[in-house]
Amino acid sequence: MMTDANGEEREDPARTCVGCRKVDTKDALLRFVMSPDHALVPDIAHKLSGRGVSVHPTRACLKAATAGGFSRSFKRAMSVNWQELATLASSQYTRRVEGLIVSAHRAHLLAIGTDAVREAMREQKTELLIVAADAAGRREDLENQAAALGRHCAVFATKTLLGALLGRDEVGVVAVLDSGIASAVTLAVSRAAALVEAE
Ligand SMILES: [Zn+2]
Repeated sequence: MMTDANGEEREDPARTCVGCRKVDTKDALLRFVMSPDHALVPDIAHKLSGRGVSVHPTRACLKAATAGGFSRSFKRAMSVNWQELATLASSQYTRRVEGLIVSAHRAHLLAIGTDAVREAMREQKTELLIVAADAAGRREDLENQAAALGRHCAVFATKTLLGALLGRDEVGVVAVLDSGIASAVTLAVSRAAALVEAE
């Protein structure tokens, strides 16, 4: 049970961000737990046991939380570097995207490579386009097609890394054919990017 700014008790899944002190849903927040050696560990899946605190997955709220919110919540002086926390959390979101791509592949919910993606778009099966950051050439063309279909396009990883996830040498573009996976990927990609944005 958490209390909001007015001291009112709220049921789960609403939590208070220890950075900006605003109440938000559990899914909108990033959870941290304290490890046995008192380090803060990001828990983006909300699965680790132990006392946790919630922060918006943004650099501004992480920075604000290190100014006192974390220490107050864990009732001990915590010396933490918010940029390190942001980088740690960002890489957890990146791992999540990788995991989603691998499981979507296993479930045959991806179209892999330019030709398969074109085909999927023609058949209007595409929910999301994932394009490697270094996929030059036909990338813009595919992005335009996705935009014309009203589909989101996420830039993620490199051709080599996408290839490694999918058991190929290099993959420049992937279409996600499932809407649930597409929104989970979109969210995790945007959080990973926002947490390491240059100021
Ligand atoms: Zn916040």
